[in-house]
Parts: sequence; C-alpha cells; structure tokens
Amino acid sequence: MYHAKRSGKNKTQVYAPHIGTKSVSEIRRDLTEAIEQEKLYLEYQPKVCTRRRKVISVEALARWEHPEFGLFMPKFWVPSLMGSNAMPRLGEWVMKTAMKDLDRMRSEGHDLWMSVNIGTDHFVSKGFISNVEAIRDELNFDPGLLEIEVTEDTLFSSEEKAVDAFNQLHDLGYRVSIDDFGRGYSNIARLANLPVDFLKIDQSIIAGASDDPRIGTIMAYTLKMAKELDCKTVAEGIETEQQAEFASRLGADCLQGYFFTPSLQVGELLNWLDAQPGSNGHPYLRETNDA
Ligand code: C2E
Ligand code: MG
Ligand code: MG
Ligand code: MG
Repeated sequence: MYHAKRSGKNKTQVYAPHIGTKSVSEIRRDLTEAIEQEKLYLEYQPKVCTRRRKVISVEALARWEHPEFGLFMPKFWVPSLMGSNAMPRLGEWVMKTAMKDLDRMRSEGHDLWMSVNIGTDHFVSKGFISNVEAIRDELNFDPGLLEIEVTEDTLFSSEEKAVDAFNQLHDLGYRVSIDDFGRGYSNIARLANLPVDFLKIDQSIIAGASDDPRIGTIMAYTLKMAKELDCKTVAEGIETEQQAEFASRLGADCLQGYFFTPSLQVGELLNWLDAQPGSNGHPYLRETNDA
C-alpha cells in the first residue's frame, strides 16, 4: 500500500513495494514529463444501469507506464500529486484524451457518456470551469457527455468553492458526482445543498456489506437517502454476483466492478461492449424492452 512520510515541503517520500522510496518532487517531475511524452494512457471501466441492464457510461482511469517501475498504478502516485500543478495537467490531459476516445465509442454505435476523476485542488481552483469549457470548445461535445467525479473530501476541505463549482458545472449541463462516498470524512449534511448527479458508494462499504449485516444496513440507508435527495447511485467495486444482486435489490442505479470487467483500453473495451448484448452476454447485460 501507498504511504507517505512527511519531512518538509516536497521532501515527502512516497513508498510503493516494487518501487521503493521516491521523493514527491521526483514523482511530480516524472509525471509532467510522462504526460508530455505520452507515457500515460487511459483505461475505461463500464458502469451498468441496473434497470436497463446496459452499460450507460465508462470511467477513465489513468495508467502510467513508468520508465523504471513499469506499470505504476494511480493509488501510489495520485495522493502525492494532490495540490501540485501536475494535477491540473493530468486532469486536462485526461479530459481531452477521454473525450476523444468517447467520440470513437459513440461513432461505433455505443450510446455512452464519460466520467473523469478530478483532484480536489484542481476542481476548486479558479481556472477549473474555464479549463473544462475550453476543452469542450476545442472538441465540441455536448456537456451532458462529461461527468466529473470528485472524492467526498472535496466537500470537506473547501466547502464554498466546491459548492460553487458543483453549481456552475451543473448549470452548464455537465454531470458531477461524488466518488468514494463513505470512505472518509463524509459530511452528509452537505449533500442537501448540492446538485449531485451520482453518489458513488465506496467499495469498502460494498465489500463489508457482504459479510456484515450492520454494514449492509448502512448501505441500504445510504441508497435510500440518495434516492430521496434525487441523486442517482453507483455501487463501486462489485466483484461477485451476490454483491450485484444485493446492490440492485437495495436500489442502486448503477453497478461497477470486476464482476463485469476491470478497466480496459479503448480497443478492448469496444470488443467487450460488442460481446455483451444477447443471450451469450453477461447475465446483467441482457437486452430488454425496458428502455
Ligand atoms: P476511483 O475513481 O474510485 O476508481 C476505482 C478504482 O477501483 C480503480 O482503481 C479501479 O480499477 C478499481 N476497481 C474497479 N473495480 C474494482 C473491483 O471490483 N474491486 C477492486 N478491488 N477494485 C476495483 P485505479 O484505477 O487503480 O484508481 C485508483 C484511484 O486513483 C481512483 O479511484 C481515483 O481516485 C484515482 N485516479 C485514477 N485515475 C485518475 C485520474 O485520471 N485522475 C485523478 N485525479 N485520479 C485518478
Ligand atoms: Mg472515480
Ligand atoms: Mg471510487
Ligand atoms: Mg482497473
């Protein structure tokens, strides 16, 4: 697991098992270089709508082919880049790349929208909305096709700015979602004033609910609360059919997880999508008339 030791500004050390220890400033420099040299790529993980039994959107997840370490997963480096100007660069690169790939998916007949993850500091920064709008101008897509996921700590750390960004994005027609809900310091009351499109229930709750009925109760009430606040829900980290059934039964609108597929590169994703409809497809992805 990732952990960081603080020893003064930018001297924080990042540790990952196959990597050993690196300073945060080295990682930041490497990432900026990687974006420029196109050493980063995206994978996409589908979200399945429980009612329509079809894939309605995909989430872009960054993958970094590091020259020394090989495939370097985001959980090791995203936390140490928070607050640095590598995050806005990452965010912009992800939005552009993902929206170009979405165009390809849609032109191949898949009626999907795209989610991207945006770091808290980038999301609440002054330039963020104009950043997003500039990308939309350049690539010319409908704002409803872009969903922005921010983790729940965004609401905790800079409440007013976060509320502003949520409202502005919502008014412009983008979708905005809260990721990893229930993992950290959720201040549930803040949901009351926010136009949240999707609440993504953290995978630790999904996993815990399978063997602890008390966590199951928390999950049930979280889903119920979201519904009453007019907020759609995604159950993250669905790994088994039992979890899929449990989450559907409790009213989750969407499911996402290895039970369907891990994230895939765009070509693989298109093949996977083509293989789904019909009787040989995934049991949760049957064709229905219930549009
Ligand atoms: P997230 O946005 O909550 O994404 C879900 C993570 O869980 C992904 O890990 C995904 O591969 C993994 N996952 C999906 N299904 C399952 C499952 O059934 N079981 C388990 N155990 N895991 C599952 P990944 O790609 O390593 O990303 C980790 C986190 O790093 C993401 O969590 C997100 O917070 C962050 N991240 C990833 N890409 C980006 C990015 O482009 N920008 C920013 N700012 N953050 C990113
Ligand atoms: Mg996410
Ligand atoms: Mg999450
Ligand atoms: Mg993955």
